[in-house]
Amino acid sequence: MNDCIFCKIVRGEIPSYKVYEDDHTYAFFDINPINEYHTLIIPKKHYENMFDITEEEFLNVAKTVKKIVNLYRDKLEMKNIQILASSGAEAQQDVFHLHYHIIPRFSGDNQNMKWHSHAELREKFDELLKRLN
Ligand code: 5GP
Ligand code: ZN
Repeated sequence: MNDCIFCKIVRGEIPSYKVYEDDHTYAFFDINPINEYHTLIIPKKHYENMFDITEEEFLNVAKTVKKIVNLYRDKLEMKNIQILASSGAEAQQDVFHLHYHIIPRFSGDNQNMKWHSHAELREKFDELLKRLN
């Protein structure tokens, strides 16, 4: 993908603050961090998101996610993180090269990931499961 911004980062055509890389994955600081060490983890190969990535490549990404979590735990004594990967524009994906956000959190950081729950959806659980058969 020639014009993909994250492919350009992998190829070194755009500078990045690299945290880690191996044969399959690359981890770097998010350019608009919401906290210190806000990190993106991507496969080196271009996949749009969770819908098209292969299971094998996803496992490579998952391993690197765990590596970075361990690194931040061991080096920084980090104890609170959120991990997020949006897939699709309506799921608020902005860059269409699969990426996992590692978002460190701490008390008083003034961040708040708030969901609106819909208890009435419980009535539909049976029907929702039926549609999977
Ligand atoms: P999304 O909204 O797709 O989950 O997240 C995309 C993320 O990529 C955003 O948090 C944004 O700050 C980050 N980002 C976009 N362009 C660049 C870039 O050129 N370099 C880096 N390091 N991060 C980027
Ligand atoms: Zn790409």
